[in-house]
Amino acid sequence: VSLAVGVDLGGTKIAAGLVDTDGTVRAQARRETPGTAEAVVDAIAGLVRELGAHDAPVGIGAAGFVDEARRRVLFAPNLGWTDVPLADLVSARVGGPVVLENDANAAAWAESRFGAGAGVASMVLVTVGTGIGGGIVLDGALVRGGFGIAGEFGHVPLVHDGRPCPCGQQGCWEQYASGGALTRAVREQLGDVDVAAAIAAGNPVALEALDGIGTWLGAGLAAIAAVLDPQVVVVGGGVVENGEQLLAPARAEFRRRLPAADRRPVAEIRAARLGPAAGIVGAADLARRGA
Ligand SMILES: [Zn+2]
Repeated sequence: VSLAVGVDLGGTKIAAGLVDTDGTVRAQARRETPGTAEAVVDAIAGLVRELGAHDAPVGIGAAGFVDEARRRVLFAPNLGWTDVPLADLVSARVGGPVVLENDANAAAWAESRFGAGAGVASMVLVTVGTGIGGGIVLDGALVRGGFGIAGEFGHVPLVHDGRPCPCGQQGCWEQYASGGALTRAVREQLGDVDVAAAIAAGNPVALEALDGIGTWLGAGLAAIAAVLDPQVVVVGGGVVENGEQLLAPARAEFRRRLPAADRRPVAEIRAARLGPAAGIVGAADLARRGA
């Protein structure tokens, strides 16, 4: 099979693409995410039709917990879903086979196959957006965990008795190193400003906050590297658009915190390459492989 459809199902929009074997998106279409699961299934079937891909395999990367058989969305707070058998519902509507995956896992798979992690067997993708998410590829295989929910990096407890997190814990990594943490740090000092504009204008307070986010990012990456030993850490998400202003302090702190850093190979920290299309590309490739 050459072409496959990748679907990126998020809380606000559904993006779909027709993807070929080298990860190139040939055509794309999108819709707003409707309010019910039934309407989402309609929308996905409509997108597959719109792309002219009725018999192609379909991979769906969904923002939520996916069961270990990868047929059901167990819990998706952004969609308001609990236990929806999405793969089978879509399968009943389209001609080709349907594969379901967590959206961050799909993006990690795409970066490992076609993006910043291409050519290495073991990498992690850490997505720094409002929160922190990501996925794990070890020894060439996607790591999903015993319950299908591995790679929830944002909730690694990094600071003992630290800042409260909506997940119910305290001191989670994303309370220190995410886009949300950056916005809070800037606005605490500058008021209700546009954070990206303040950074672009070279505002020293905003730049210092970004540097601080990068430092916390590196600290968490050292914890992840101590456990998973990736060759490459790919950093994606909106905040990485700040480039070296984020990644340089992250690399410095990573090296400072890594156990025995001067007596071991040190993982490379790279910016993601595929951008927002990663979820589509990864889901399509997983569908093409039948998992
Ligand atoms: Zn948390």
